[in-house]
Amino acid sequence: MNEFQERKVTLKWYEPKQTYDVIIIGGGGHGLSTAYHLATRHGITNVAVLEKKYIGGGNSGRNTTVIRANYGIPEAVKFYQRSVDLYYQLEQETDRWLMFKQKGILWMAHSEPALRAEVARAEMNTAFGAETVFVTPQEIKEICPEIDLSGGGVWPVMGGTYHPAGATARHDRVNWALAEGANQRGVHIHQRTAVIGFIMEGDKVIGVETTAGKMYADKVLCAVGGHVTGIASMVGLRLPIRTHPLQAFVTNHYERAFQPIIASMSLLFYVSQTARGEMLIGAEIDRQPSYSYRSGHHLVQSCAHRALTLLPFLRDLRLLRQWTGICDMSPDYSPIMGKTPVENFLITTGWGTWGFKAIPAGGEQLAELIATGETPELIAPFSLSRFADDRTKADRGSAGTH
Ligand SMILES: Cc1cc2nc3c(=O)[nH]c(=O)nc-3n(C[C@H](O)[C@H](O)[C@H](O)COP(=O)(O)OP(=O)(O)OC[C@H]3O[C@@H](n4cnc5c(N)ncnc54)[C@H](O)[C@@H]3O)c2cc1C
Repeated sequence: MNEFQERKVTLKWYEPKQTYDVIIIGGGGHGLSTAYHLATRHGITNVAVLEKKYIGGGNSGRNTTVIRANYGIPEAVKFYQRSVDLYYQLEQETDRWLMFKQKGILWMAHSEPALRAEVARAEMNTAFGAETVFVTPQEIKEICPEIDLSGGGVWPVMGGTYHPAGATARHDRVNWALAEGANQRGVHIHQRTAVIGFIMEGDKVIGVETTAGKMYADKVLCAVGGHVTGIASMVGLRLPIRTHPLQAFVTNHYERAFQPIIASMSLLFYVSQTARGEMLIGAEIDRQPSYSYRSGHHLVQSCAHRALTLLPFLRDLRLLRQWTGICDMSPDYSPIMGKTPVENFLITTGWGTWGFKAIPAGGEQLAELIATGETPELIAPFSLSRFADDRTKADRGSAGTH
């Protein structure tokens, strides 16, 4: 037994009820976090989380676990910084070891325009509470001695930004801690229970049809990741979301400690080291929208080539595992949280390739909305209505995968 195997999730099984105050569709990080915050912050425990497979079986258990707040627009910086702050105290709060580790994240610039963008990012991030500093090539080399500043002679590192709060945490453990915290307070978590339809009273949602029968609720939150458009269409709602696969892979063990997270937006890849010593590499989404979980050689080939230009030591390592998740991509690369035109039906979506870091704050804010009926200020800019109102929150350059 080692630290990866010894931990088991312990959930109390409850007989499904016919009526709940709140039903949450989807047992990923966002659904579980909302249930956890409803129970811990508002004492609302007559809640069911309905998960069609197993908790954390979606993107929340198959991501590259990067946590950061160095976003490109003030609204996002404030929201993600809140989430980073909550992550820093999550082990203590849940009394679980989440393998949380502060690493710092470096964003590389390889051209004059990219350099100017990074200078602006550092200033704006710091102004809105997410410490980010501009760093010279020499400072980058000090933080990451492995880096080839010449970028293989093609992509020279001209500078970048360093966000010291950048961190990682073990994704399964985050899901399990939130699930156990909610469940211990009485929240029902029904795994292998898929939502297959809705019960409507006029235009209002009053319950869901599931593979385990009908269940009624005052409020239904849809937190189903890449499956959101299918579920929303069941209540007649068309969302501005497209589902794209995103792949990642790890190498075998690198014998030296590799502290920071490295990202290059021009080369479209990011790298960190797992607790096992593997080098974990992520890249851009697959261009073709689909629900396919299939991983492909094309990603490894192109991404490995790009990663090697900055980190030549990777060429001595071997590919160990590769996997895919399906991401709910919004057109402005920002999340969509809150009420919808369908009464009693709320959504948390548009988490695309960037939603793991948002799990604590996303759940906290949605729980407040459900408990009070009022949209909290922090998430008001991320409402679905922003598309109709032409107030989109464009932040493509911060996705890390574009
Ligand atoms: C390869 C990869 C790398 C990533 N790296 C990062 C990263 O480094 N940092 C970061 O911040 N983000 C990252 N992300 C994105 C992040 O993982 C997601 O945005 C986040 O996990 C979304 O959480 P969620 O709870 O919304 O969705 P999910 O975790 O996907 O959960 C949705 C759940 O809903 C369930 N479901 C679906 N349909 C139904 C139904 N009909 N009935 C009941 N249940 C249903 C699914 O089974 C699933 O468990 C990455 C994603 C991938 C794929």
